[in-house]
Amino acid sequence: MKIGIDLGGSHIGVGLIDGTNIIAIKDKILTREDRVDIKSSIVNEITAMINGLCAENGVDVNNIELIGIASPGTTSNGVIVKAGNLGVKDFDLISSLKKNFNNQMILRNDAKCAAMAEKVYGAMKDYKDGVFLCLGTGIGGAVFMDGKLLEPKRYSGFELGHMVVNKGGRLCSCGKRGCFESYSSIKALKTKVTETLDMDSDISGEYLREVILKREIFEAHNEAVIEDLENFLEYLQVGICNLIDIFEPEIVVLGGSFSYYEKNPIFQMLLDKINAPKTTFNEGEKPKIVAAQFKNDAGIIGATLI
Ligand SMILES: [Zn+2]
Repeated sequence: MKIGIDLGGSHIGVGLIDGTNIIAIKDKILTREDRVDIKSSIVNEITAMINGLCAENGVDVNNIELIGIASPGTTSNGVIVKAGNLGVKDFDLISSLKKNFNNQMILRNDAKCAAMAEKVYGAMKDYKDGVFLCLGTGIGGAVFMDGKLLEPKRYSGFELGHMVVNKGGRLCSCGKRGCFESYSSIKALKTKVTETLDMDSDISGEYLREVILKREIFEAHNEAVIEDLENFLEYLQVGICNLIDIFEPEIVVLGGSFSYYEKNPIFQMLLDKINAPKTTFNEGEKPKIVAAQFKNDAGIIGATLI
C-alpha cells in the first residue's frame, strides 16, 4: 500500500493507493486563509490527511511502502525549487514531512507524475509518441518520444505552460507576459468567467463547469461568457498545435481539471478548432486528442510510480 499526494495550486489530494486502485481519498481546497502561511498549511494538512486515511482504513502508517508527492513547478531532491501558482520557493517539503513520518518519500513535478500514470496505465499506454498537458491552476506538461519520457538535465524542462502565445500579453505568475497558461489554464478561464459574471473567483472547478455549461452558456446563452470561452479555446488550440508541430505526437492527452470537460460540448469545440485546416504545419492527419483516463487522479497514482 502506498500514499499518493497531489499538491495542486488550489487543492491537496491524498490517496491510499494499491497499484492503480485508489482505496480511499481525501481532498482539501486551499483557501485564502491557508495561503497566509502556505508552507505550514501544506505540511499540517498533508499530515492530518495521511493519518486520517490510515486510521479510517485500518492501515498502520508505518506499513506504507512509499509516500509519493506530485508537486507543481520545478522540483529537485525533495525540494520545491519554484512553484509560481503555489507561491513558494525553496520549500523543503520532504524534510518537513520527515518530522512526522518515517516512510520512504519522493517528490516530483505533478505533470510528469500524471503523465507517467497515463503512459503506464492510462490513455497513452498504447502509444510511443505522446504529449501530456495538465490544464489546472497552471499548465504543466510532459513529452514521450519512442516510449521514453524526455527529461532535460538542468531544470525540469518542458515548461509548456510558459511558452509565450501572446507577446506582451497577460502577466503570468512566472513573471513573463503572454504565457500559454495565462490564457488556457482552468484558472485563467475561471478568472475571466467570474470577472464577466461579477462573481467571487474563489469557486471550485466543479462549480465553474456548472456555471459555464448549465446555466450561463447553454441555457441562458450569455454572450460575454461565450466570448471568454472562445478566447480560452482559441489560445488552447494555438498552444496544442505548436506542440503538434514540434513533437509530432501520435496522441495528445489533456489532463487536470480540463479532463472533466470530456463529455461536454467544450471538448468537441476544441477538437473542431484543432482539426480545422491550416492549424498545423503538416496538413496530414492530426493526432488523437483525448482526455486523461485517470482525470485528476492521474497525479496521485503517478506520484507512487518510481
Ligand atoms: Zn509564465
